Amino acid sequence: MSEIKLTFPDGTVKEFDQGTTTLDVAKSISTSLGKNAIAGKLNDTLIDVERPIKQDGKIEIITGKDDEDSLKVLRNTASLVFSAAAKNFKTDLHFGEKQANDDGFYVDTDDKEQITVDELDSIAESMNKVIKKNDKVERTLMDKDELVKMFKDDPYKSSLLGAIDSVQVPVYKLDDFIDFGYDAVLPNIKNLKHFKLLSVAGAYWQGKSSNPMLQRIYGTAFFKQEDLDADMKRRAEIKERDHRTIGRELDLFFVDPEVGAGLPYWMPNGATIRRVIERYIIDKEVAWGYQHVYTPILMNLNTYKTSGHWDHYREDMFPPMDMGDGEMLELRPMNCPSHIQIYKHHTRSYRELPVRIAELGMMHRYEKSGALSGLQRVREMTLNDGHTFVALDQIQEEFKRTLQLMVEVYKDFDITDYSFRLSYRDPANTEKYFDDDEMWNRSQSMLKAAMDDLGLDYYEAEGEAAFYGPKLDVQTKTALGNDETLSTIQLDFMQPEKFKLTYVGSDGEEHRPVMIHRGIVSTMERFIAYLIEIYKGAFPTWLAPTQVRIIPVNKKFHQNYAENLLAELRKKNIRATIDDRDEKMGYKIRDAQTMKIPYTAVVGDDEMADATVSVRKYGEENSETEYVGMFVDSVKADVNN
Ligand code: ATP
Ligand code: ZN
Repeated sequence: MSEIKLTFPDGTVKEFDQGTTTLDVAKSISTSLGKNAIAGKLNDTLIDVERPIKQDGKIEIITGKDDEDSLKVLRNTASLVFSAAAKNFKTDLHFGEKQANDDGFYVDTDDKEQITVDELDSIAESMNKVIKKNDKVERTLMDKDELVKMFKDDPYKSSLLGAIDSVQVPVYKLDDFIDFGYDAVLPNIKNLKHFKLLSVAGAYWQGKSSNPMLQRIYGTAFFKQEDLDADMKRRAEIKERDHRTIGRELDLFFVDPEVGAGLPYWMPNGATIRRVIERYIIDKEVAWGYQHVYTPILMNLNTYKTSGHWDHYREDMFPPMDMGDGEMLELRPMNCPSHIQIYKHHTRSYRELPVRIAELGMMHRYEKSGALSGLQRVREMTLNDGHTFVALDQIQEEFKRTLQLMVEVYKDFDITDYSFRLSYRDPANTEKYFDDDEMWNRSQSMLKAAMDDLGLDYYEAEGEAAFYGPKLDVQTKTALGNDETLSTIQLDFMQPEKFKLTYVGSDGEEHRPVMIHRGIVSTMERFIAYLIEIYKGAFPTWLAPTQVRIIPVNKKFHQNYAENLLAELRKKNIRATIDDRDEKMGYKIRDAQTMKIPYTAVVGDDEMADATVSVRKYGEENSETEYVGMFVDSVKADVNN
């Protein structure tokens, strides 16, 4: 028998018979390693512990610790056992794609009667039966032709087999259940002890929206119960913060793919939060020297050809509307060309600069359906946009000023967890960007110098720039742990050039201004999604849709008093409502807490007699009695804070 050379992680090389397995290799090192080995990693690819190794390579023995590879093997096994158990449960079930990764595993399934979330516990029980009944997964090699015949009535397996180009396929058997497409599973399935089936969601076959919708079953597995428990806790926390869940519970917004994917509807509660933020940011910007405008969301396509959007940003734009008479209209994906029109409408003098044009500008972007997520990534959005036109020597100062504005706004919203990213163009992919190397080098180093000058920490990212210039992005984390951009400041020498923008200098000559694009609170959509998550839906009083919920103890006797209190609060622009539903007091108080309303004011006989209210603040156990006038003033003070 010929020999092969295997290289171990520490660099030692040993010779083995060709056809040796990871298990043999492990045993040759020590008995305990032989016992603990659950898989091998040959040239960075996971393989079953009993798979014959035919050629030289790098070998690593995976031993079922908590590392990524061990967890993948464990979760592969869980998904195999799940499939076998689910097939016992629903005999006509078909399986699509599956995956095990560092977050758990999923299996796509299809049946006339799809698996529902209520069935997951029963399937998990059935998984335990499969584990009890079998010791190991039988692993064999089968001819692909034979498998094709075996799965001829299964469109998904047939298609998956079609993508395999080897003659023989590793096949896994548990009782009568046969499957393929795993890199490695546990040699002893009794070691699959701590698993959980988590949820069910729709997923298109192979991710294409023109394909049938399958049911994706999510689960996870760990080697230790305490790790599973910790993971369940982490998931519960994420869910508790998820802006889509809270948005539903607090009736803030909805997105219905039947009506339009990525096109949100703002319910009165969400609309109130948005209106408060819009008023806040407009007032703030006006105070900072911005001129707020309104401009149309439709524009002649030619303008986007001039601006470069048509050449560099078309993928993200909705297709133009052909009006039939030669006129082509385009839904704007950005507001810059609109603000350029405002700048150009008058002759500008150096004395006016910086000219700061701002708008809550609605824009439309054709985001891929798979990328859409609640309010976080949508197709119609309103950006807190602004474009400042400056002279060359004003760039640095204006950049700093914009950062100052941003920091001030973040303070007002209590946003503390963010980092700065300098976003450059991708040097390996320059055709995606405006073509002017000198401009790129100059503006990238200008931004960097400004950041260094301010002494702020930042990291650099290639390939994240806008097509017209580099940016400073402010990155925050979502509840799901993803990085996302909130604010952005961008430098642009290109569009002023393309639109031939000018100002008259002190020398009486025409000069070219530079444009600074900036968004402070991002789009209303993304910003509010973010706020929902950081506040867990418990908005500070100034933003809360309802600030005070008044509960009369008895409608018959206390309604009038409640209405007078309501009038007092409304006089001071405090958002208050009366809960006069025919429900029990306890229920109404709980409901006010569930809706995370900052103040609940109960009024009954005692309160009426003394001109007081019994006030309970959100999250507090006890209530306090306060005089009406003092209560109204204290809520007002809280709002103003
Ligand atoms: P991203 O990288 O997130 O797609 P971008 O770099 O294309 O964003 P800009 O053109 O700089 O975004 O848009 C300004 C801001 O608008 C972004 O910083 C982001 O906060 C927000 N934004 C962008 N796309 C969306 C979207 N699809 N839904 C909600 N907000 C968005
Ligand atoms: Zn812009």
